[in-house]
Formats: sequence, structure tokens, C-alpha cells
Amino acid sequence: MARSVFDAPQFKDEAAAFAYVEGKLWPHGPVCPHCGTVDNATAMKGATTRQGLYKCKSKECRKPFTVRMGTIFESSHLPLRLWLQVIHLMCASKKGISARQIQRMLDCSMKTAWFLAHRIREAMADGSVEPFGSAGTAVEADETFLGINPNARRVGTPIRNMNAILTIVDRASGRARSQVIDRVDAATVAPILQINVSRKARLMTDYGLHYFRHGWLFAQHGRVNHSAHEYVKADDASVHTNTVEGTFSVFKRGMRGVYQHCSRKHLHRYLSEFDFRYSNRAKLGVDDAARADTALRGVAGKRLTYRTVSERRAGAEERLVW
Ligand SMILES: [Zn+2]
Repeated sequence: MARSVFDAPQFKDEAAAFAYVEGKLWPHGPVCPHCGTVDNATAMKGATTRQGLYKCKSKECRKPFTVRMGTIFESSHLPLRLWLQVIHLMCASKKGISARQIQRMLDCSMKTAWFLAHRIREAMADGSVEPFGSAGTAVEADETFLGINPNARRVGTPIRNMNAILTIVDRASGRARSQVIDRVDAATVAPILQINVSRKARLMTDYGLHYFRHGWLFAQHGRVNHSAHEYVKADDASVHTNTVEGTFSVFKRGMRGVYQHCSRKHLHRYLSEFDFRYSNRAKLGVDDAARADTALRGVAGKRLTYRTVSERRAGAEERLVW
């Protein structure tokens, strides 16, 4: 990463950071998080006034607010310019950055760094619901395995004791959606496909039985027989799952190289991060800055808070809740 990237004012100056975030989250003027009023607020100025403070001018409200309220930035004391630096790094590094790297960069505790990264992953989570392939284009689905599933019964083949991940890639838009699944079977996979893949789509999978039974629901079901070393259908080169397998290789390299330890509980957050970078990659014309701006727009409405699980117990364990 070139050092010069952080020479932009929003990474160095707190007032510039606020102006930058306000510009992205409030394109039509300040939005009061208390009453929803748009562009009817006064910027509070004064030597002791908090950075970016506004007061709502709506008659019934008149409450103060900043652009941090109602976002992942709320209830964090970290300066906004440092948040922007971490968002930029997470968006620009193909395999992600470790909490250790964030800790070094911000000179903060490991806990702060870890929590910060998870909040940014939450901002990256794709909230869209429209199904892939609705224009009759190809959608690839496949599953992969990573790490040990603590809920597994430790029977059968080793792969059955691992965390299973189902990923769907829309070839036309170049976007990916992944989720952790409990079992690789038709009862689990079919409902996910029905929600995320249009009936007009051409579904591309391997010969897995969990796809076979529901393939007829789609305009076409192209299958490649991986166990027979068939990777592209001889009579139709569009029948393959090479795109989705490409996403798995980036994900696995990142998880092994950068994140190393990841429990099943948090796996979906890392999937959000990798899906986000994949769906907003350079090949689709999205550069580092544009990718960071897209992540930034995702910060609203995704507040994540620490909650002390048992305050009475000494050294109470803390966990993430949202
Ligand atoms: Zn208001």
C-alpha cells in the first residue's frame, strides 16, 4: 500500500473526515436520526462543541446529532479519520488485513482492533435481496469447506465435520453471495437457491445430488461432472462452475494467510468481507476509493454494540450482539 493514499485530507484531519462522511451519508443534507427530518438542522459551532454536531430545527424534535449516530461509528471513541483509514485498507487488500495489523496501525488494543474490523465487515454485508440471473443469465452455485464445525457429530468422513459454505455467483453482474450452511443436502440448499436465484436463471452446478432434485426449478440446469474430471461441458462451454471456484480460492488463501483462526460463529462476517470485495472488484471497474465509498455507505443502520453478558461475574465475558 502506497503511503500517499492516506495523504487525502479525510484521513488526516478530523473535520475533513466528518465532511467526507457527511457527503456520502447525507447527499441531500443532514438527516436527523431522531425524527428523520432532512436538511433542516443547524451546524453547532464553538470552541467546546463536539466535532460535526448539528441541532435539529424540527419543532417537535430540536435534538442534537452527528453523522456517527445510528451507524457502526456510534459508541466508538475512535476518531473518524482512523475509521476511514481502516475501511480503506480492508477494501484495498485483496486478502483482507488482520486485527494485528489494525492494532499496529492505530496503536490500539487487540480487542478494539478486532471489534473494529467486525463492524466494518457488517457494513460490507450485502443487504440486497433481488435474485441473481433474472435476465436469464448464468448463475453458478457450489460449496466449499473450511475449519472444524464444533456442532458436527464427529462421524463419517472428515469433510462432514467441517464448516460448509454455499456460494452463489451471478456471472452477468459479477457478484457473489455466500453463507454458512448446516448441512450439504437438498433440504438446506434448495430454499437458499429459491430465494437467491431467479427461476429464469441458467443454474450451473456440479453433479451434487443436493442440486439435482431442484434443478428443474430453473430455466436450465447445467451440470459438470467433477468426479469424472469434467470442468467445462464439451458441447456447451458456458456450463461450468469455474467462476465460483475462483472465489473459493481467494477466500481460502485469505483465511489461511491473514485470518488463520476463525470460529464458526464469526465465519459469516468474513464471508461478507470477501463477497463484498469480489462483488466490487477492479475487474468490474471499481477502484480502491470507490470500493471504500461503497463500504462507507453501508455503515448506516448497522450499529453493533458490546454487551456485557454477565456483569455480576468478575471478569465478565463480553460478546458481540446485534
Ligand atoms: Zn429531529
